[in-house]
Amino acid sequence: MNIGKEVLHLLKEEITEVEYNRYIKHLTYDTKKSNDSNAVFYAPNALVANWIKSKYSEKLAHLFELKGDMKVNVSISLKNQADRRRVKKVNEQKVQLSLLNPSHSFNNFMVGGSNQFAYAAVKSVSEKAGKLYNPLFIYGGVGLGKTHLMQAAGNVFQDQGKTVIYTTVEQFLNDFIRHVRNKTMDRFQEKYRKCDVLLIDDIQFLSNKEGIQEEFFHTFEALKGAGKQIILTADKHPKKIAGLEKRLQSRFEHGLVADIQPPELETKIAIIEKKCEINKVTLTKDIINYIATVIESNVREIEGILSKLHAYSQLMHIDIDLDFTKNVLKDQIKENKANLTLDTITEYVAKDLNIKPSEIKSKGRSRNLVYARRITIYLCRELTTSTMPKLALYFGMKDHTAISHTLKKINSLIENDEDFKVKIEELTNKITSN
Ligand code: ADP
Ligand code: MG
Repeated sequence: MNIGKEVLHLLKEEITEVEYNRYIKHLTYDTKKSNDSNAVFYAPNALVANWIKSKYSEKLAHLFELKGDMKVNVSISLKNQADRRRVKKVNEQKVQLSLLNPSHSFNNFMVGGSNQFAYAAVKSVSEKAGKLYNPLFIYGGVGLGKTHLMQAAGNVFQDQGKTVIYTTVEQFLNDFIRHVRNKTMDRFQEKYRKCDVLLIDDIQFLSNKEGIQEEFFHTFEALKGAGKQIILTADKHPKKIAGLEKRLQSRFEHGLVADIQPPELETKIAIIEKKCEINKVTLTKDIINYIATVIESNVREIEGILSKLHAYSQLMHIDIDLDFTKNVLKDQIKENKANLTLDTITEYVAKDLNIKPSEIKSKGRSRNLVYARRITIYLCRELTTSTMPKLALYFGMKDHTAISHTLKKINSLIENDEDFKVKIEELTNKITSN
């Protein structure tokens, strides 16, 4: 077996079967053109070539290093000249091809209280395109699975032979500008109005862009009128997107609006277990629990950590244990903590409990102030790198022993009072997902 084949073989071990069969399987390695510094693969068409280029170039280079101790440039070319021209054209125009990620499936999506409504909505839409909720609008914070869910429906439709367009607002806008410039708006309209399903990601970027809102409105009306399914995502409810035309807002709300909340601990654990299974990483229960507690809500961040762990352990030939994990996560945690200030946390809690930030920092002894102050101190300690003396100063307390006493009190509350624990978890999620 040549080294190229061996590398593809290794890659097969690391990715899902669907992804392998859809893309990697079709690659061939050119033994004549490849040498110690270049690895040349051929793909059957531009779609496959672009997908592999964007997603696997680095990975392939890494595998060459592992397997053959070679530092190579990986190139993915097309066998056929016409196709090669197409790739070039596509690159020149800087139009990103938007493909559905085959591993964004319903099976790979872990459902819990935080996302079950959105999941159920998307799932039922995927079973009855255009008939149930149109449009379906999913909103929620960063990295909570909006794109994943939307594409899961897209994959179902695609497997049914429907024409699915997945695009972000940004790509839609670029495409629009290009067609305006080339005076080919008829082609633009035909493309977007002829599809069976339109998936548009990150609708909040329509904000204050009037020209594209106008065009989008007409696309929307045409598709909706023809009974074609539309699924949209955004980081907030349509009502909260500033600079969005009223007519669009009301249309977005007309189908079904479903939110995704930050995952609860159990869901996070289930997600990590799933990602481990997909990426063929083995972690013990205590490591999984540790990652789930340390990373508050962003699932994308969790994925980053898993691949970091995997890479370190492979490169350094170390088994992944809890200490090793803590070490790897140290920088990440510091980074997250550095972004939050005591003021931000205090403001959050104040807003949530409907009191003033200054009251939290006052010496007031009423029940709800004491409650709010305790929570704030706890969160400040957990979510920032502030020392106890610094916290004492900030909250106007005598010294660090007063803080330490409060923290002890809170820890025992967390252990014994389920409502309190939930409140802390809820606030932590809210604060860290923003
Ligand atoms: P968003 O679009 O909301 O910012 P994504 O859909 O891109 O987030 O999700 C980020 C990553 O987290 C993706 O790789 C996705 O597969 C993963 N993810 C998010 N939620 C879940 C879940 N409930 N189960 C499995 N994976 C998830
Ligand atoms: Mg997204």
